[in-house]
Amino acid sequence: MAYDIEEIRAKFPILLRKIDKKPLIYLDNTATSQTPRSVVDAVVSGYCDTKANVHRGVHTLSQEATELQEESRRRVKDYIGASSVKEVIFTRGTTEGINLVASSFGSLFPENGEIILTVMEHHANIVPWQLLQSRRPDIKIKVVDINDQGELLLSQYRSLFNDHTCMASFCHVSNVLGTVNPVKEMIEYAHSKGVPVLIDGAQAVPHMRIDVNDLDCDFYAFSSHKMYGPTGIGVLYGKREHLLRMPPYQGGGEMIAHVSFDGTTFADLPFKFEAGTPDFVGIGAFPKALDFMEEVGVGKIAEHEQELLEYAEAKMREIPGMRIFGNAPHKSAVISFLVGDIHHYDMGMLLDKLGVEVRTGHHCAQPLMHRLGISGTVRASFAAYNTREEVDAFIEALKRVIPILS
Ligand code: PMP
Repeated sequence: MAYDIEEIRAKFPILLRKIDKKPLIYLDNTATSQTPRSVVDAVVSGYCDTKANVHRGVHTLSQEATELQEESRRRVKDYIGASSVKEVIFTRGTTEGINLVASSFGSLFPENGEIILTVMEHHANIVPWQLLQSRRPDIKIKVVDINDQGELLLSQYRSLFNDHTCMASFCHVSNVLGTVNPVKEMIEYAHSKGVPVLIDGAQAVPHMRIDVNDLDCDFYAFSSHKMYGPTGIGVLYGKREHLLRMPPYQGGGEMIAHVSFDGTTFADLPFKFEAGTPDFVGIGAFPKALDFMEEVGVGKIAEHEQELLEYAEAKMREIPGMRIFGNAPHKSAVISFLVGDIHHYDMGMLLDKLGVEVRTGHHCAQPLMHRLGISGTVRASFAAYNTREEVDAFIEALKRVIPILS
C-alpha cells in the first residue's frame, strides 16, 4: 500500500493550526510527537465513560478501567516482544524508568562497581546514575566517546569493561546526533562479560520496531508521548530474573501484598514497581497509538522519515556555513545544525515567526555539547506526518532568516 500522507495528516487535528497566520510546520518531533484523534478520543472516553480507580473496586467501572489498563499491558508486551506481562512496568516515561533501575537495581551493585555510559546520553541516562553515585561513592562511571561522524567508539566501549563493571546503559538512538547505535552487538559484548544492559529507547521506539527478546537487553525504557501516545506515561521492560531480585522503587498503595507496622510484604510483578494510582486513562489509551503505528506500518514510517532526512540534509548542505552534527551512516530523522556564528536560540525564534517549530538549545545533552565544543544546536526532526513541502518551506525559511541574523 502506498504511503498516503494526506490520510495520515488528517488523523492529527493539531496539523490544522496556524502559527502567526502561517501553517504549522512541526519539526520538533524528537521532543514530543503529535497525537492522532484516535488516541485523544480514547483519553476522552477514559474520562467520560470508564473513569474509576484501577485494581481497587468490585464495581463495574473499576473493573472496566482495570481491564483497559491490563489490556494495554498485554498489548505492550506483544508489541515489544516481552515474554510476560510481569516484565512490563508502566512508568511516567523514560526518565522514571531509568531512575527506577538506577535506584533499585543500582542498590544491588557490588562494592566498587563500574557503570559504562556514553557521551551521547540524554541527562535522563546520566543523572540517575550520578544520584546513585552520591549515595554510593564507591561506584564509578566510565564514558564511551564518539568519532567525528557521531558514532560510538566501539573498541573503546569494549576496552572499558573489567572485573568491576556491573552495568552498561546507553541510548538506542541519540536525540541530538540521530545515530542509531549497534545495540544488539553492544549487548552481546556486555553479556559476554556478564554485564547487564539498560537501553534508553526513547528515540528508537517511535521509528523502529523493537523486540526485547531478540535484543536480549536486561532493561528497555521508553515514553509514550514520543510515539503518538498520551503524555505522562511510559514503559520499563525488565527481565523477570532481575525484577524479582530488585527492591521496590517507591512505596505506597498498589505495590503491597500486606502492610502492618511490624513489616510489609510486596505485591507480585509488575505491581511491586507501580506504587500509587497510575495514569490509567493514558495507559488505557496507549494501544491506540500502537494501532496507529501498526496500521501505517512502522517500517513505512521509518522509510518516509529517511526520505525526508536525505532530502532535507542534501538541501541544507548547499547553504553556506551549514554545520550538521551527526553524520552516521545509520541515522534517524534528526538534524542538529548551526549556521556560521548564528546563535541557535535566535534562529529558532525567527523560524517560529515563519511557522516552523524547531528545537533549540542543549537538548538535555550538555556533556555531548561540551564534547562538540558548542553550547547548543537548532534541531529539526521528522515524524510520520511531515511532508516534502514542509521540508521545502523549512529550507526557504532558513534562507530567509540566515541573512537577517548573519
Ligand atoms: N532519553 C532520550 C534519548 C530522550 O530523547 C528523552 C526525551 N527527550 C528522554 C530520555 C527522556 O524522556 P521523557 O522526558 O519522556 O522521560
